[in-house]
Amino acid sequence: MSDKQDLHLSFEFFPPKTPAGHEKLAAVCEQLAQFGPEYFSVTYGAGGSTRDNTKGTVFGIKEKGLAVAPHLSFGGDSEANTRALLGQYRSAGIDRIVALRGDMPSGMGGASQLVYANQLVAFIREHFGDQFQLAVAAYPEIHPEAKSYDADVGFLKGKFDAGADSAITQYFYNPDAYFYFIEQCRKQGITQPVYPGIMPITNFKNLARFSDNCGAEIPRWLRKRMEGFGDDTDSVKALGLDLVTELCETLLENEAPGLHFYTMNQAEPTASILRNLGLS
Ligand code: FAD
Repeated sequence: MSDKQDLHLSFEFFPPKTPAGHEKLAAVCEQLAQFGPEYFSVTYGAGGSTRDNTKGTVFGIKEKGLAVAPHLSFGGDSEANTRALLGQYRSAGIDRIVALRGDMPSGMGGASQLVYANQLVAFIREHFGDQFQLAVAAYPEIHPEAKSYDADVGFLKGKFDAGADSAITQYFYNPDAYFYFIEQCRKQGITQPVYPGIMPITNFKNLARFSDNCGAEIPRWLRKRMEGFGDDTDSVKALGLDLVTELCETLLENEAPGLHFYTMNQAEPTASILRNLGLS
């Protein structure tokens, strides 16, 4: 198992929509900060729809003296606006970005052009040199729009060639999908860390719906078991905690370089897993 002291941990939030949500997130952030993460990250709504809210949430975390990485995509914005936003982040002492292509908000169709993540990485390197550490997205079960497995790994390589430092994966519940993916990455010459993304299981119905859209697979046995619990949320959470703890153990025993948690703005599901792993 990786040395627990050196283990890379990062925690992802989405920007809350209400003042109450911001207040709650501040408390969640403080609770999770006790686990000593390398950074927190804050998502950027499809098409840049949360631009100001993401920025506000990022600055709030930074003001607590914590490391934070805004997610960013062009999202239909001009180069000048994107550059200005990056400049504001730099001025605030932020030195990490999660660079993405992103998706269009539903209803916008193809009205605006999506810019591939490798182009955003190249853009940031061109204008800001090495001032930011850049993480990009990776898909052990392959991005839903990918032409083929090898092509998708090839495009990930393209993001590293453009200057990315690390990748964070989409969540998955089958560790073999991750291990196989890492093997294929190494074969295509990717040597940088690819951190597994971990989604705690708390609300199975929401998770199943979301997974269908983002190309993360829920194994049939897990789906059947969870569906069998119906509205018994305590049983869903208890099994979810056991299974995700086991997943993390397997990943770390097999040299995964760390863990990135999709916290869904809740402290307890992630904290329980970390305590089970002996990381409190
Ligand atoms: P890309 O790497 O650009 O890939 C998109 C697709 O195009 C893939 O199918 C790929 O195979 C293909 N491709 C890549 N490069 C090229 C190229 N040069 N030429 C042709 N084809 C290419 N979404 C949000 O809206 N906001 C967020 O904050 C957010 N955070 C995320 C964080 C993580 C860790 C992950 C894993 C995903 C996140 N997403 C987020 C979802 C992500 O935006 C979507 O999955 C999106 O569809 C792809 O973004 P990407 O950066 O992976 O795209």
